[in-house]
Amino acid sequence: MSSPKRIYEYLLGIGIKKEIAEAFLKVPRERFVFVDLNPDRIYSDDAILTFKDGEIYSTSSQPSLMAEFMQEVGLKKGMKVLEIGGGTGYNAAVMSHVVGDDGLVVSVESEEKVCSCAKRVLAEHADKGNLIYICGDGYYGVEEYSPYDAIIVTVAVDEVSPYWIDQLRDFGRMVVPMNVFSIGFYQPTMVFRKEGEMIKGRMRFVTSFLKAGGRLGCRNEKVKELFGKIDCEPSEKLYMDRSGMSILEILTGFIGKNRGFYIYADGFCKAIYKFEKWHLCGGCERLERAVSLLEREGFPSLDRVLIGFNKDRTEFYLSREG
Ligand code: SAH
Repeated sequence: MSSPKRIYEYLLGIGIKKEIAEAFLKVPRERFVFVDLNPDRIYSDDAILTFKDGEIYSTSSQPSLMAEFMQEVGLKKGMKVLEIGGGTGYNAAVMSHVVGDDGLVVSVESEEKVCSCAKRVLAEHADKGNLIYICGDGYYGVEEYSPYDAIIVTVAVDEVSPYWIDQLRDFGRMVVPMNVFSIGFYQPTMVFRKEGEMIKGRMRFVTSFLKAGGRLGCRNEKVKELFGKIDCEPSEKLYMDRSGMSILEILTGFIGKNRGFYIYADGFCKAIYKFEKWHLCGGCERLERAVSLLEREGFPSLDRVLIGFNKDRTEFYLSREG
C-alpha cells in the first residue's frame, strides 16, 4: 500500500492518538517531494529527501517522529503552533489539519528556493487559511502571531533562541533538537515548558535532523573564537562523566567543540573537557554551581534530569526527575 493510509495505520499501531494520525491521511506526501523517489519510500515511516539543488537540500522528517513531537507538545484543535525549519511544508500541512480552522500554523524556512517550492505546493494542497508559511531565519521566530501554544523545531540548532522563549505562551511547550554532542550526527532532542521566567525540560528523543544554517547554526563557531581570547592556565579541578557534560552544554548553550576538546566560554571563564576531566579557569561561578548540583545528584543520565534556565542564562535549575 503506497498511500497516506499506510502512514496512518502505522501511526495508530505505535500508539499515536487518532486525531493526530488522521491528519496524515489528509496530506499527499508525494506532492511535497521535489526529487525522484518511489512511492513505497514516500509512504514509509522514513525521513526522505524532498529537495536538492547544489548545496541546498531539505528533508521530510520521519512521520512517526513528527507525530510524537505533536503529542509531546499536546497539539490539538484550536492551538497556535510555530514550526522552525518549514522545508517543503509537509509537516506544516499535517499540523494544519490537527489544529483545524480555529487554530493556526506558522512555519519558517530560511532557504528561498525551498520556500518557493513549498509555497506553490501548499497553495494547491493545504489551502486551509490556517497556515502561514514565511521565508526567513527561524532564530527570530515570528512575533506577529505570538504567543504560541507550542513551538516545534525540525532542524538541529546550536541554541534555544531567546525569541522563541518570548513568543511561547506561559505553560506552552517546545521541542528542540540540539547540536551538542561531539558525535555530530545525532542530537538530544529536548522538550521544554515555559514556566514564568524559566524554561524547564528534559531530553525526550535522540534524533538526526539536518543542521541549521543562519543564526541557529553559528553559535558553536563563535564560541571557538571567544575561547581563544581568554588567557589563563587551566587547573585540573572537576571531573564529570559524559551525561554531566551534556547537561551543562544544554544549560549554558555556550559549549562548542574544538578539535576534540569540549569548551565552555562566556567571556569571563573557560573550561575544557578533555579525557573525561574538566579543566576550569577564571571565575566560572555559574559553571561551578551547575557542576556541584550534578555531583550531588550523582550524575544521573540526561533523560532523568529536569533542567531549566532563564532567558539570559544567568539562572539554572537542575533536579532529578521525581
Ligand atoms: N519540517 C520539514 C523538515 C525540514 S528539514 C518538513 O516537514 O518537510 C529542515 C529545514 O530547515 C531545511 O529545509 C532547512 O533549509 C531549514 N533551515 C535550516 N536553517 C534554518 C534556519 N536558521 N531557519 C529556518 N529554517 C532553517
